[in-house]
Amino acid sequence: MDDIFCRIIRGEIPSTKVYEDDDVLAFLDISQTTRGHTLVIPKKHYDNFLSCPAETMHKVFDVAQRIGQAEMAILGAKGVNILTNVNEVAGQSVMHFHVHVIPRYMGGEGGFQITMKGQDTSGMDLPRLAADLSKAIN
Ligand code: AMP
Repeated sequence: MDDIFCRIIRGEIPSTKVYEDDDVLAFLDISQTTRGHTLVIPKKHYDNFLSCPAETMHKVFDVAQRIGQAEMAILGAKGVNILTNVNEVAGQSVMHFHVHVIPRYMGGEGGFQITMKGQDTSGMDLPRLAADLSKAIN
């Protein structure tokens, strides 16, 4: 599998590096949705969060947490969104697992918006839904 982030890891495409170790790379998102918007990726290719082994996923999120803390400490961010998209239907455009760390400021931001619109749940059997999911993860 080869994608634009694999090419960044190999140094074939430039990136604005924020952090690097043996397993993880973090660099500024080219779009800078807000100032400091950073992507954290595993160096080994996995298509997305769901297909990434837990050990690697934990390393990626550990770095994401540290970057979020740094954004709060030195960029004046008042909050942070941590986001990872899985598959095109969920907005994933680069098929290499990555975590967005997006600092949030008071006003004057870029175009980032999350709208979670609730729906009518009266026709849903929520206890059954929860039980099915619970069974599937155990
Ligand atoms: P997603 O839509 O969750 O797959 O996010 C992919 C992100 O990768 C987008 O926010 C892009 O702006 C970003 N991106 C694409 N190409 C590059 C690049 N060469 N360097 C840095 N960020 C990139």
